[in-house]
Amino acid sequence: MTDQYGRKIDYMRISVTDRCNLRCRYCMPEEGIECINHEDILTYEEIVTAAEAAAELGVRKIKITGGEPLVRRGITELVRMLKNIQGIKEVTMTSNGVLLKNKANGLRSAGLDGINISLDTLDREKFKRLTRYDTLEEVIKGIREAAGTGIKTKLNCIPIRDFNEDEWIKIAAFSNDNIEVRFIELMPVGLGKEFKLIPYEKVKERLEAAYGTSRTNWDKHGNGPAVYYNFPGLKGCVGFITAMSHEFCKDCNRIRLTAEGDLKLCLCYNEGISLKPYLRNHISKDRLKAILEEAIYQKPAHHCFHDKALRDVERRSMVQIGG
Ligand code: SAM
Ligand code: SF4
Repeated sequence: MTDQYGRKIDYMRISVTDRCNLRCRYCMPEEGIECINHEDILTYEEIVTAAEAAAELGVRKIKITGGEPLVRRGITELVRMLKNIQGIKEVTMTSNGVLLKNKANGLRSAGLDGINISLDTLDREKFKRLTRYDTLEEVIKGIREAAGTGIKTKLNCIPIRDFNEDEWIKIAAFSNDNIEVRFIELMPVGLGKEFKLIPYEKVKERLEAAYGTSRTNWDKHGNGPAVYYNFPGLKGCVGFITAMSHEFCKDCNRIRLTAEGDLKLCLCYNEGISLKPYLRNHISKDRLKAILEEAIYQKPAHHCFHDKALRDVERRSMVQIGG
């Protein structure tokens, strides 16, 4: 379906938990967050019902996110259930990779089409400082394992001032035929507000100094707004996601479902429509579709991150919304 601005909505990000086994400084406070009660989190059956209705309205791709999706029990089964929905062409996941090593094969067999793994540093001490856990080695093993199974693997790196500037070149070198590297501008969501933005041009300039002048890669790479480039000195390509410095809202194709069942039309705004009462009361599929359709039609024209005076701006952290 399309919204009131004519944007085709075909991509749904589904958060399955607000729990996480890391505490990345731009996302989670050290003490963690007050977690949603287990009974308030959507069950897999409820998630599938919402996804089925969305699929009937034209959603074709689903990304499972969180919190950390791999900490939720039975997540492989959810992948299988979502893949079986008529109309859904692609199910992918975003993960911190810590628990991936022993799960990559199962996820692949369940039909997972792609995985995005966060990797902001290759330095063990810095990883510990950023995430407050000493698990870089597990993440690297997870990346190798996932790429080895043939799941399309993307590494997501957030450029952080005075932290990983000296590592962008090394991280970009992970790109090859099976792995894409993307640099993602930090957004002022939750703890992300405390960090200063590094515009993507700065990263690109540094990569060009190391790997030669880039050329835009026009191939279709996924669901999102990343713009990809090839560098003569790199095997694979590198993407940039520039929500802040180059807004891409006019092409936004996504909706989000939070772990407790709120349908969010834009990451930036506080409001969402709670689907949980409808799902728990087993309303008809047609009624659910009508509710989704009406909500999607009202999707905001663009994000509000540059408008600091706005009062209805989202105050929760990425881990709570579902990044
Ligand atoms: N735990 C998983 C992970 O780390 O990939 C999935 C959830 S996490 C919230 C999803 C993505 O959001 C990660 O790549 C993370 O780096 C990113 N993220 C967290 N806070 C962010 C922010 N303020 N701006 C941009 N990206 C952010
Ligand atoms: Fe956890 Fe992902 Fe947030 Fe890091 S970015 S704290 S891994 S949810």
